Amino acid sequence: MAGNEIIIVDTTLRDGEQTAGVVFANKEKVRIAKLLDEIGVHQIEAGVPVMGGDEKEAVRDICRAGFKASIMGWNRPVTKDIEASLDCGVDAVAISISTSDIHIKHKLGTSREQVVEQMVKAVEFAKKEGLQVSVNAEDASRSDMKFLTEFARAARDAGADRLRYCDTVGIMDPFTVYDRIRQIIDAVNIDIEMHTHNDFGMATANALAGIKAGAKYVGVTVIGLGERAGNAALEEVVMALKHLHKIDLKFKTGMFLELAEYVSTASGRELPAWKAIVGSNMFAHESGIHADGVQKHPMTYEAFHPEEVGLQRQIVIGKHSGTAALKAKFAEFGRFLTDLQARELLSKVRSTTVSLKRPLFDKELVYIYEDLFGKRD
Ligand code: MN
Repeated sequence: MAGNEIIIVDTTLRDGEQTAGVVFANKEKVRIAKLLDEIGVHQIEAGVPVMGGDEKEAVRDICRAGFKASIMGWNRPVTKDIEASLDCGVDAVAISISTSDIHIKHKLGTSREQVVEQMVKAVEFAKKEGLQVSVNAEDASRSDMKFLTEFARAARDAGADRLRYCDTVGIMDPFTVYDRIRQIIDAVNIDIEMHTHNDFGMATANALAGIKAGAKYVGVTVIGLGERAGNAALEEVVMALKHLHKIDLKFKTGMFLELAEYVSTASGRELPAWKAIVGSNMFAHESGIHADGVQKHPMTYEAFHPEEVGLQRQIVIGKHSGTAALKAKFAEFGRFLTDLQARELLSKVRSTTVSLKRPLFDKELVYIYEDLFGKRD
């Protein structure tokens, strides 16, 4: 994979908010944009200005906040959309139109020729206004490759800065993505932006496959928020680039948990314990072998350090715990168990967790200890 040229385009505020049932208050939008900017996101897709009202107001507020990140507005290939974006003061626009026959026929009721013509006109207008332009090929993954290539070439010739390859319904797999992106780059000299959805659980993998094939831009959302099953997650893409592909974007990853929790609260979408990168279980160990391993050397059962994303390691005392974890836990309380005490405690701990069907709180562990060995003086 190519060095540090990867540009992260976060669309939590546009695609993320398009999640059925999600709406952010304007204050929340500005706050999210601020966190994204602080973390190091290069470009923020802030919303759809032509909607007017609060939506337009929020994009304007974000543009005025003086962030380092580039601010992008989302548009149909229509002059009044782009004028609304310009009103807000954005420096970049996404200009979106469908390229698949199923969308062209059933949604737009138009022709491939019309699609190219509208896109070209809109791009030329936006470029004349000095905007950076990402041409979005909506439903690119179900588009005829020959037509998509022609579309990309027309976009480039009209002055577009890049082509957003949208896997709108999330039906790609990493191998196909790799081949298709290579094909477009080989045929047309234009930068590619990945925009992948998670309908089959492959959004992040597909985004990475696109980067491996030469895409320089990658669209993401915080915790993978987005239409239906969501988008590729910001924290997953950044951490996978860093640890699996050795591309360190120098983001402030230690803020990932804070950002994830904020977006989770603002969107009313619970952050699952098993969420990759920022879930509360990422560094929680219960089973005896694992807990013993991480106590001897964290890298035995962890892919990276919890502090890197703002989390902490947690040894959970439950049914699968062993004596090593119990000893370590009680050492935290200043009580040093003998082997015999640890074994006695363990059997009581196991029966208690089974009857309660959950791990134990620290207080409960102390009560069990006191029941067995009496209060400490
Ligand atoms: Mn999308």
